[in-house]
Amino acid sequence: MEQSAAESITSTSDDDSRFRLAFDAAPTGVLLLDGHDRIVLLNAAIEKLFGYERAELLGQTTDFLLPARLHDAASPFCRTGARGAANADVAGRRKDGSELPIHVVVSRVESNHGRYTVCSVVDVTERRDVELALRDQSTELERSNRELEQFAYAASHDLREPLRMVATYVKLLEREYGERLDDAAHQYIRFAAEGATRLTRLVSDLLEYARIGPKALAFEPVDCNEVLAHVLESLRARIEQAEAEVVSEKLPTVQGDPILIGQVLQNLVENGVKFRAREAPRIRISAEPVGDAWHIHVADNGLGIEPRFHGRIFDLFQRLHTHDHYPGTGMGLAFCKKVIERHGGRVWVESEPGRGSVFSFSLPALRAMKKPPR
Ligand code: ADP
Repeated sequence: MEQSAAESITSTSDDDSRFRLAFDAAPTGVLLLDGHDRIVLLNAAIEKLFGYERAELLGQTTDFLLPARLHDAASPFCRTGARGAANADVAGRRKDGSELPIHVVVSRVESNHGRYTVCSVVDVTERRDVELALRDQSTELERSNRELEQFAYAASHDLREPLRMVATYVKLLEREYGERLDDAAHQYIRFAAEGATRLTRLVSDLLEYARIGPKALAFEPVDCNEVLAHVLESLRARIEQAEAEVVSEKLPTVQGDPILIGQVLQNLVENGVKFRAREAPRIRISAEPVGDAWHIHVADNGLGIEPRFHGRIFDLFQRLHTHDHYPGTGMGLAFCKKVIERHGGRVWVESEPGRGSVFSFSLPALRAMKKPPR
């Protein structure tokens, strides 16, 4: 019996020294405060973190570890929530007066000797620096994006007027002096007029594209059947001329900007008619629910697109066909991508040459979104 009591005493003191060893070796700073919020225990990590000797802190309040401006408020080392625990990011102060960002986790413990507060303290300088750098980067990115959008908007806006002038004077030249010019001069005038028309189209497409950025997005229920009906009406002449057949399944009501969604559908249907194969264009619009979103598909039986170009065609000015064969500015799909991404969705294509294309985009379903995207 006696021997086992001795063993137990040895083992208790072993436990104590093992505890002290672990307590001091812990990488996290630990403080124990008594019922009067005075420091009664601390480990080596606290000494290292704040630059104090243990003896300097024992018996002190936690104000020693905080900048003066925080002294009047309740100390974050003592504050606990309703469940007796809390955590906070606060500024700490070292012995030399310098500050450091710390994360403090506080919990209350009750023992036979009374109530204590245990605080664990971690230096979060690195995390804070990374967060600040990330915030700086994203502010900078937003600023330069905004600037770029403003530039594109201003440039395309300002270019319209001189362009109109060029187009008008080229027409005048033809009309007023046409009889005095030879065939070559007429051809040059035609090239100049065509160039001006193309540039006008490019500039107005660029203006539309640049406008999506600063434009506040309308955010309302959009019945895609109604929107598509308007689109088909405005494309009627082109559809009839191409002898195209456009059919649509019943489409959903989504959340978004009806005008922009209409422009997306218009671009995709127009492309289906334009990039036709030999047979008459057949375009089918359908939709399927996927999670909290709707996927809307615009399928055609046209030329199709090699898979290696599937990503690139959504970039600005990227075209796979020459202007002579298929007129266009290469901005339609970039416009669609920007609009859909601003709605929180994405656009993609499935296609192979000679097998037609299916262009798809996702939009939030009616109930899915509580607040509008940026
Ligand atoms: P644009 O129609 O003015 O050329 P887009 O951005 O709408 O510009 O399209 C980019 C390119 O993607 C087109 O030039 C064409 O090569 C290809 N493309 C787009 N839609 C289709 C389609 N339905 N079928 C085949 N190719 C397409």
